[in-house]
Amino acid sequence: MKSVFSFWRDFIDLLFPRVCLACAGELVESEELVCTGCWAAIPKTQSHVHALPALHAKFAGRVAVKHVFSYFSFEKSSRVQNLLHELKYKNQTELGIVLGKFYGTDLRQIGYQGQLDLIVSVPLHPKKYQQRGYNQSDLFAEGLSAALGVPWSGVALQRATYTTTQTNKNRAERWQNVAGVFVAPNAADVAGKRVALVDDVMTTGATIESAVVTLLNAGCREVSVITIAAVM
Ligand SMILES: [Zn+2]
Repeated sequence: MKSVFSFWRDFIDLLFPRVCLACAGELVESEELVCTGCWAAIPKTQSHVHALPALHAKFAGRVAVKHVFSYFSFEKSSRVQNLLHELKYKNQTELGIVLGKFYGTDLRQIGYQGQLDLIVSVPLHPKKYQQRGYNQSDLFAEGLSAALGVPWSGVALQRATYTTTQTNKNRAERWQNVAGVFVAPNAADVAGKRVALVDDVMTTGATIESAVVTLLNAGCREVSVITIAAVM
């Protein structure tokens, strides 16, 4: 027999069908946020099991990065792009935390929690933060932190200046645009620590590179990078 709660749940689902954030198909009762079919089809890089040269190449010869982990590989017009869009622009905050918990669980299986002192998210500019009301990278960091049992900070790194859109700029121009955009206001927060820097998506890696430089200059022992998705 169905409980009263279950009855109401079915009733509410009928009025407001719960849909998959990746394909917009209707979710069955046991599914949350992403349907089983999408979850199986989303390309996971497994970069925490086998280091991926394509990810390390974004930083090679530029800045010292210990590990580069990305949960998914990013492609345009894909389920992954849909998920990132929902996370960034549609207020799907729970999605960021859930993805962090899932990937954190994968990282826990390789014992990563023992190689890490602090998780730091890449900050949004305050203007953007005000518009959006949240930083999607904070959510992913929060989920990772919960699964790994390692503290996270959304303020260890802060934006120094506003960067205009990165589109229509070549790599050199992009680099100039992001050089010196971050500050670590309290070096004592990060000094001597093994830090994982967390962002939602990595394209050229220029923004993340700038953040890594700031963290290393502030005295971090080593910096790794963890993103939800990366252009390979
Ligand atoms: Zn789906």
